[in-house]
Amino acid sequence: MSYAFPPAPVATVPVVGSDRLFPVHRIYCVGRNYAEHAKEMGFSGREAPFFFMKPADAVLVVQEGDTGAMPYPTLTKDLHHEIELVVALGKGGKNIKAADAASHIFGYAVGLDMTRRDLQAEAKKQGRPWDIAKGFDYSAPITPIVPADQAGDIHQADIWLNVNGSKRQASNVDKLIWNIAETIEVLSQAWELQPGDLIFSGTPEGVAAVAQGDLLEGGVTGLPTLKVRLG
Ligand code: MN
Repeated sequence: MSYAFPPAPVATVPVVGSDRLFPVHRIYCVGRNYAEHAKEMGFSGREAPFFFMKPADAVLVVQEGDTGAMPYPTLTKDLHHEIELVVALGKGGKNIKAADAASHIFGYAVGLDMTRRDLQAEAKKQGRPWDIAKGFDYSAPITPIVPADQAGDIHQADIWLNVNGSKRQASNVDKLIWNIAETIEVLSQAWELQPGDLIFSGTPEGVAAVAQGDLLEGGVTGLPTLKVRLG
């Protein structure tokens, strides 16, 4: 048997300090995982973590030092930035305990969970899925992945985003409501995680709209800086 047509290439993300590529299996995202962002979205308190997904080929890889070109998506007039720490899994599993989660982590990257906020607001109002708001093409700009043992103390790293040189988001990974290990524990109860899975861990406060021509520059201490211009 052969394929009816050539299969799409596997989506990949480069690995820092290596010529190996990280093959992306799935992209999981955590919703409202910083308290101040939950508040700005109209929620408060520590709710159980919840998840949504983006397609693997939504990644837009931007090498360190480069400026990625992200096309402004169709159907929206309110495209928002969400800077996030991305966790890359090197080992899968189900019902992973938080205490064992670190051994499943391959490395970390900086990502943008780009969001059609107007379509998300409509989806929330109508009780419809978020896919069109979150899972569109090029919706996941990402840096190369830094292996976990070279990423420094990621759990207390600053996370930030500037737009056209002005500060928009600034927080610290230690403000995650559900930390990385807890997130992996809960996520692995819902899906059997696989090597190649990426987890966008949530965004801090300060999300706002961006326009065509804007330059987004963001990072997490210890990881490459992510630079994207909206075309
Ligand atoms: Mn997000």
